[in-house]
Amino acid sequence: MKVGNGPEKENSEEPQQLSPVLSALFARRYEICREALPGLFFDPWSEWEGSPTAQEQNLVERNIIDIDFGRAAYLLHRQFGPIEDERTVELLLVRLIKCLYLRIADSSSHSRLIVDFCHDVLNRECHLEYLDGILDSRRELGEEYLSLEASQTWILYWIAHSMDILDHCLSDAEALGIINFCESCRSEKGGFGGGPGHRPHAAATFAAVSALCIAANQQPEAYDIIERQKFLHWASHELKTKLPEGSAFRVSRDGEYDVRATYCVLATASLLGVLTRDLTADVASWISSLRSFDGGFGGEPSNEAHGGYTFCAIACLKILHDAGYLCDEEFEKLVSPSRHWLQSRQRLLEGGFQGRTNKLVDSCYAFWLGAACKIAEVPFNAAALERYLLRYCQDTKNGGFRDKPGADPDFYHTCYALSGLCLTAQSQASTEYIKTPLPEINPVYNLTKSTFCAARDFFGS
Ligand SMILES: [Zn+2]
Repeated sequence: MKVGNGPEKENSEEPQQLSPVLSALFARRYEICREALPGLFFDPWSEWEGSPTAQEQNLVERNIIDIDFGRAAYLLHRQFGPIEDERTVELLLVRLIKCLYLRIADSSSHSRLIVDFCHDVLNRECHLEYLDGILDSRRELGEEYLSLEASQTWILYWIAHSMDILDHCLSDAEALGIINFCESCRSEKGGFGGGPGHRPHAAATFAAVSALCIAANQQPEAYDIIERQKFLHWASHELKTKLPEGSAFRVSRDGEYDVRATYCVLATASLLGVLTRDLTADVASWISSLRSFDGGFGGEPSNEAHGGYTFCAIACLKILHDAGYLCDEEFEKLVSPSRHWLQSRQRLLEGGFQGRTNKLVDSCYAFWLGAACKIAEVPFNAAALERYLLRYCQDTKNGGFRDKPGADPDFYHTCYALSGLCLTAQSQASTEYIKTPLPEINPVYNLTKSTFCAARDFFGS
């Protein structure tokens, strides 16, 4: 029997046929996992009534168990050859699986096997190949990106930041590609649109400014494309909105206001050194009105708590705090009710974060929630998160990261999975099984520390 989801890049001369004993155990894999790891699995009855995701959740869990069991059975086969005694093999399998999910320290003589089993590596070269050719226009985006017509500056940023994380210095052509494209998106009013000729938009502006800061590592004139006084004028006069709860920002003139736009404006202003008292006045009180009953933040008052919006809210508070517009006590008072909600978003079996209660894990929340945890000083299981990203979301054949096993990779999830790996790489727990030397990132702006510091130095804080 062929183990379909075994290791992706094993040596072709390795045996592909499992012994009858291992094959029989593989057929009982879900049952064995559920017995060995009671409580780690999704239980539809313990979740909210009418859960729409029970089936999908089971599918993700099964994908993950398939991958892990395939690998475990394969490793046992390689190490011991055909073992006749089913009970002995089952005990070994259960020990491997428990070690993986529960992180039980191993004292047996099979510790080498367990290290092999838990060890996952970042395939740098194949991710760089996946990202190659877009910034300098040697390759066109596939049609799956057509719906992102209004987010083209984001695509530049996702690719450039991923390359920065992977320690790839942009070529002159790649840096110029970013500079020329962003210039074509720049608005006379200040800010950038998502594509050439588009109206300026807060999110597209933050992405363009971030991409330009990365390009400036190679071509310092990238900074000159950014007109920060025009940006400040546009953000203050066209985007800032007074509301009963405080002040927020709109994505564009007459566009919707929410915490995502508010974060993009504050982060851009802070990065460019134009975070004025006028711009920030009353923003913290509006953000505090976004808290939901369970401790997270929604996009607008009374909305459900959401990982992306919670990141935006906490990052805004951090920006205001670091600029001296919130004192330590105020910051702590606003952030501390979110800690339990943040920590509860990491799922034990998968190791990844879910964006909302009762939703599926998704690799992009490795950054959105990992960074919010980092800013709010909430501990999370970094080794389990790395395992989720590297084992289940990394495409080691074609490059890139997917949101969950079974899906296709894309530039967005590649950027945020890699950013999440930078956060786990800074954690001590990371080094136990997985050594992935990655640069430090600033969790508020999601730029590498060196790119962030260079931009701050240029614009003055
Ligand atoms: Zn996602």
